[in-house]
Amino acid sequence: MEKEKDRHPATRYVWELLDEQERGAALAFNERYKEFLSLAKTERETVDYLAGRARNSGFAPLLEFGRLKAGDRVYLIGRGKIMAMAIIGSEPLEKGLNIIGAHVDAPRLDLKPKPLYEEAGLALLKTHYYGGIKKYQWVAIPLALHGVVVKGDGRVISLVIGENGADPVFTIADLLPHLAKDQMEKKMSEAVTGEALNILVGGLPVDDREAKERVKKVVLEHLGRYYGIHEDDFVSAELEAVPAWPARDVGFDRSLIGGYGQDDRSSVFTALEALCEQREVRRTAVALFADKEEIGSTGNTGMHSVFMVNFIAEIAGRCLPQYSDLALRRILNNSRAISADVTAGLNPSYPEVMDKLNAPLLGCGVVISKYTGARGKSGASDAHPEFVAFIRGLFDREGVIWQTGELGKVDQGGGGTIAYLMARHGMDVLDCGVPLLGMHSPFEVASKLDVYMAYKGFRAFFRNAD
Ligand code: MN
Ligand code: MN
Repeated sequence: MEKEKDRHPATRYVWELLDEQERGAALAFNERYKEFLSLAKTERETVDYLAGRARNSGFAPLLEFGRLKAGDRVYLIGRGKIMAMAIIGSEPLEKGLNIIGAHVDAPRLDLKPKPLYEEAGLALLKTHYYGGIKKYQWVAIPLALHGVVVKGDGRVISLVIGENGADPVFTIADLLPHLAKDQMEKKMSEAVTGEALNILVGGLPVDDREAKERVKKVVLEHLGRYYGIHEDDFVSAELEAVPAWPARDVGFDRSLIGGYGQDDRSSVFTALEALCEQREVRRTAVALFADKEEIGSTGNTGMHSVFMVNFIAEIAGRCLPQYSDLALRRILNNSRAISADVTAGLNPSYPEVMDKLNAPLLGCGVVISKYTGARGKSGASDAHPEFVAFIRGLFDREGVIWQTGELGKVDQGGGGTIAYLMARHGMDVLDCGVPLLGMHSPFEVASKLDVYMAYKGFRAFFRNAD
């Protein structure tokens, strides 16, 4: 095993630290990761995938259990969009849990409640973007529609259109450069407006000269015939336009992965696999997959909600000889957590936004961030050095290649994760995840080495009982 100084990678080629066998394992792991990214493009699809993987790995719905014992594998899903999984440990719950929290939502374009209209002989859908996007990145690319429409009688119709080679795709037409003189002089943040993110969905008039809005009518007839959806059903729908492409290898050497939603599904997949692999644990291990992180962790499926605490209370109620609020508080307070989320890798074309000394590099390992936040660390959880040292020591002992980093230059911007929402219950929390290029873009790029090291790090964390 290499010396500790070799693990601080900024000046090294870290791939060299992996022997042939581990390189093979890393590449094989990433093949499965790529499949997951291509399949799970919405929070619901991600939770469906997680539930399937959980059941295959011996997990069963928590609420079906009476008492719980060491080794039991349980999960709980909230509204199809937030999920927690746990393996009950052999040590008393009051000693605390090992929790890894990630988020299942990603930036995208949601359809408005009244989206469909006809203009200039074309049918379009109006959108309202979700999360922090650079709007100009979402025009002139193929889009797929994913989501659900809930009929007035409660029936749920699930849709995925645009992922299959035989499917049509949708797109937002950009303005041609020949006529973009005014647009090109605008600031990038204003060049494409939110109200211009209208998705092209049809151009064929219905064969009825008396009808009004004949192109829109064809679209509605299609939706009615194939999906049983009527125009007023959009009011109770959750339809999301996402990039229509699968995740792909990037680079001649295939060392990188490009794909939509790696923030934060790189953490979701690595935490999931790290947990499923555990057989027996001493401290109860919990993987938490939250929704709504990209819009502030709000709502009853976001991390501001009571979901995590309720999940742990349901477990405590089935494990403790006598459940009490005080016992629950002790469990939460004594827990340790990783807030698993991506961070910004150094983009070689934009080094000026990073402090090079503290910038994560792609291919140099999973990133530990003591704090996130903006400006004066605003919104950061800011882990205690004792806990950073604990994780650092653990990763070193377990051969996890890691690096440290902060999200860009101090005055350049910033961001946050769910760390502070876990920390408020008393537990120690550290931010940890994969560095990306082009975060929040339709095609985010990660290094396969970093994805694998996140998995290895999370596996070590779940196993740990020091
Ligand atoms: Mn994130
Ligand atoms: Mn994000």
